[in-house]
Amino acid sequence: EEDTAPGVPPQQAADIGEVLVTADEIAERIAALAAKVDADYAGRELLLVGVLKGAVMVMADLSRALRTPLTMEFMAVSSYGSATSSSGVVRILKDLDRSIEGRDVLVVEDIIDSGLTLSWLLKNLRSRNPASLEVLALFRKPEAITVDVDVRYVGFDIPSAFVVGYGLDYGEHYRTLPFVGTLTPEAIARGPRP
Ligand code: 5GP
Ligand code: MG
Ligand code: MG
Repeated sequence: EEDTAPGVPPQQAADIGEVLVTADEIAERIAALAAKVDADYAGRELLLVGVLKGAVMVMADLSRALRTPLTMEFMAVSSYGSATSSSGVVRILKDLDRSIEGRDVLVVEDIIDSGLTLSWLLKNLRSRNPASLEVLALFRKPEAITVDVDVRYVGFDIPSAFVVGYGLDYGEHYRTLPFVGTLTPEAIARGPRP
């Protein structure tokens, strides 16, 4: 069996088409974004709202890169759609545990594709009267430009291919890959598997 990096199950290694963003690039970019967030929120306290499950890796790394005092909450939403595209019809699977009224909220997202999920989520959160509401998304695809969502912090603009890794899944698999990459056409055709 092939020798692979931590987080890369040997049987998944052959399913990766192209690595678009390496683990080092992600770490470097998160540190840079954290410095910006620290500067912007100086003297304040942040409430990071992570959107499960894709944003868990970004949350874990971003929260530890920040010096701003913060608390964390998580939400889980599901947009009805296929395994590889979203519809904009969103359902809350897990809501926030507490009020965000008067708080400085930073939504932490993995990736913005159509932007439909985020646009729905922001409208929902805005109705709860936070003091401020901003978004940090590690990845953004070209499609997102067409939707009117203001994303304050963006890690990487990537091509509009379906990607996995660093929290992003294909049928719940591939989330632990330390990089972000495409799947081979064969792996997509075969369907999700461990
Ligand atoms: P959107 O509503 O912006 O089209 O996408 C919403 C969610 O779909 C994202 O937060 C993410 O969880 C998932 N998603 C979008 N694009 C990709 C992708 O290329 N790969 C994976 N694994 N998930 C994606
Ligand atoms: Mg997401
Ligand atoms: Mg997913």
